Amino acid sequence: MSEIFDQINPPPRLLMGPGPINVDPRVLRAMSSQLVGQYDPSMTAYMNEVMALYRQVFKTENRWTMLVDGTSRAGIEAVLVSVIEPGDKVLVPVFGRFGHLLCEIAHRCGAQVHKIEAEWGNVFNPEQIEAAIHLVKPKMLAITQGDTATTMLQPLKEIGEICRRNGVLFYCDATASIGGNELLSDEWQLDAVSVGLQKCLGGPSGSAPLTLSDHIVEQIDRRRHIEAGIRDAHHHDSKGEVIRSNYFDLAMIMDYWGEERLNHHTEAATMLFGARECARILLQEGVDEAVQRHKLHGDALREGAQGLNLRLFGDQMHKMNNVLGVYIPEGVPGEAVRTAMLEDFGIEIGTSFGPLKGKIWRIGTMGYNARKDAVLVTLTALENVLRRLGHKLPLGEAVDRAMAVYEAAAQ
Ligand SMILES: *Cc1c(COP(=O)(O)O)cnc(C)c1O
Repeated sequence: MSEIFDQINPPPRLLMGPGPINVDPRVLRAMSSQLVGQYDPSMTAYMNEVMALYRQVFKTENRWTMLVDGTSRAGIEAVLVSVIEPGDKVLVPVFGRFGHLLCEIAHRCGAQVHKIEAEWGNVFNPEQIEAAIHLVKPKMLAITQGDTATTMLQPLKEIGEICRRNGVLFYCDATASIGGNELLSDEWQLDAVSVGLQKCLGGPSGSAPLTLSDHIVEQIDRRRHIEAGIRDAHHHDSKGEVIRSNYFDLAMIMDYWGEERLNHHTEAATMLFGARECARILLQEGVDEAVQRHKLHGDALREGAQGLNLRLFGDQMHKMNNVLGVYIPEGVPGEAVRTAMLEDFGIEIGTSFGPLKGKIWRIGTMGYNARKDAVLVTLTALENVLRRLGHKLPLGEAVDRAMAVYEAAAQ
């Protein structure tokens, strides 16, 4: 007899790590909707609505603003594999784990990858990036806006202008930051931005919204013509390379989302319903208001953490609103704290990777969990666990300091 196991029934958790976070119940409801056919007029209308909604989320007029089916890295791969031809130079300023991911994916696309690195806990200034562009002369600059591994937020405002002046395509992975930190795709002259739902957008992982400037679409279209030429071998006179992926071929994905609706994949309709609701929730609140909310709860958590006698990690001037790094205090067993938080209080906080492994915890206040009650409950539980595991702290101060942030904001 083979086992059939129990019905899915996960334990109730408050997810206060660096993502994923608890999904907004509205998104779960949208995702329980029944399917319609792929070319049902209601489905194609939803696809058009998703494009219009995400233009507002990304603050762009870009026609090509749509979803790639898959987790956030599906969006990254789609952009890189559709734009990079083997031998192209790609410059990646790395300030955390996800910069390394950009390098890896660009490398697999055959790029000559040039990386510059900032010490974890810091970001780059525009002069450093411009100097590297002059040296490398890349086709593309690929960078993350926020890196949950380090909690840092890279300012992008001046980089677009630098890229434009030097004829460099400007791509950003804004998965960790979108919805909780300002992102102005058009004003900052970004050519491509891709994200995921599972951070400040309050959704599950599995859909990658992205937006493409007309300029980058021209480059993708040029390769589409090369491919057509290769299929018709007599006309193959270009030195260019075809897009070496079918699933992530943005030329084909644009044809699928465009008026022609050329069949490509079967759109992951349930994820699309979820992505659509994530955008509606954000836009109903207002993008700027949502950023302010993330700042408020992030500030309250940071004050509270200092009230717990915890030392903050990283350059606080460039911290993301939605995630905080704190050093694990000397003599306190870091993993035992996380286990007690989870098992006794049902609250998840994050560990760390790479050079920060075993050194800091990461606590998120994002999306549906960027809320006062979530912050205060987390601080209360942490105070109890830290005290029992031998950390000296002034009792009551964490919640008092967080409350003071809320009271000041309410004035
Ligand atoms: C969390 C995060 C991701 C997540 O990628 P997945 O493929 O959805 O796991 C990607 N990029 C950044 C910058 C992130 O912070």
